[in-house]
Amino acid sequence: MTPALPRRAFLAGAVAIGVGTGFEVLSVTPAHAAPGTPEIFDCTAWNARPPTSAVSLAGNNPNKILVHHTDFPNTPDATQADSFAIAKEIQDLHIDHNGWIDSGQHFTISRSGVIMEGRHRSLERLKAGSNMVVGAHCPGQNSSAIGIENNGTYMTEAPPAVLYGALTGMCAYICWQYGLSASEIYGHRDFLSTTDCPGDVLYGMLPQLRLDVAAEVDPGGRVWPSLGQGTDGENVRALQYLLTQTGRSLGVDGDFGPATASAVEDFQKAAGLTVDGVAGATTWELLVPPRRNGSSGAAVTAAQRLLNLHGSSLTADGVFGSLTASAVKAFQTAGGLPADGVVASNTWSRLLATP
Ligand SMILES: [Zn+2]
Repeated sequence: MTPALPRRAFLAGAVAIGVGTGFEVLSVTPAHAAPGTPEIFDCTAWNARPPTSAVSLAGNNPNKILVHHTDFPNTPDATQADSFAIAKEIQDLHIDHNGWIDSGQHFTISRSGVIMEGRHRSLERLKAGSNMVVGAHCPGQNSSAIGIENNGTYMTEAPPAVLYGALTGMCAYICWQYGLSASEIYGHRDFLSTTDCPGDVLYGMLPQLRLDVAAEVDPGGRVWPSLGQGTDGENVRALQYLLTQTGRSLGVDGDFGPATASAVEDFQKAAGLTVDGVAGATTWELLVPPRRNGSSGAAVTAAQRLLNLHGSSLTADGVFGSLTASAVKAFQTAGGLPADGVVASNTWSRLLATP
């Protein structure tokens, strides 16, 4: 659905090296650590009104990103002042017409790709990587989803490439900061059936956006195992833990049976991937979340068990503390990766390589 936009190099250069090898290659570029930090203009920069009452914090991290369009005309917003005027127009509408305390969305992107804070404190919390601001952009999701308003109407027209690029970079930064996998990017309509937001065309671009975000969260060359029914072992167990982390219920036994295949198919369907029940490169790309000191859960257990396969002696308790961080750094150093102690895509892919 993105004919007007260039596909990222990592996909254009994708090479599958054959099912028989059990591994798939998605890129040949060298590894880097972390996505770039996009330029984000805070509420002060665009001269926002103060909120009518204090914004609330959710007490938790977001578990997803929701993509919106503003439904405003697709007129140019060529200058920075034009972009700031969009943020102000939305805030005025939300306060004066909707009666909300502040802008409903956490962030706004203009058609010229200028990224702005929406609701106050959203940028502060994003930089901290914890305790998101409660928004007002989708009923039922305001304490769990970061909302991004993309200026324009994308029912029949694609967003400008510069907007798409800014959205990709922004989503990558949010995923990195809050530990989200790229599969956790949705359209507003996925959670509110009565809206056509973010427009048919932008909605149709979300599968590609997820892949582009994954490539940007942790840029670099990656090889992934290809696992299907009948396979077994620690990589299958890691896959099962990661699927559990997404909220799907399945047994974690290291055997790839029908229940695992169903969970993979369900994941692929939700992410807009080809549904074949085989965990290959694109499935892994969207499945693995960044994990670091302070993280906990099934994905951490998976990482700890894989680190142990590669020579560590961690308790696989799903709690990422300083011992796990040290083990990650040692593993990264030994493998020539930047030793940042974060298990992101490049480190995941190395951990899943045969020791
Ligand atoms: Zn919306």
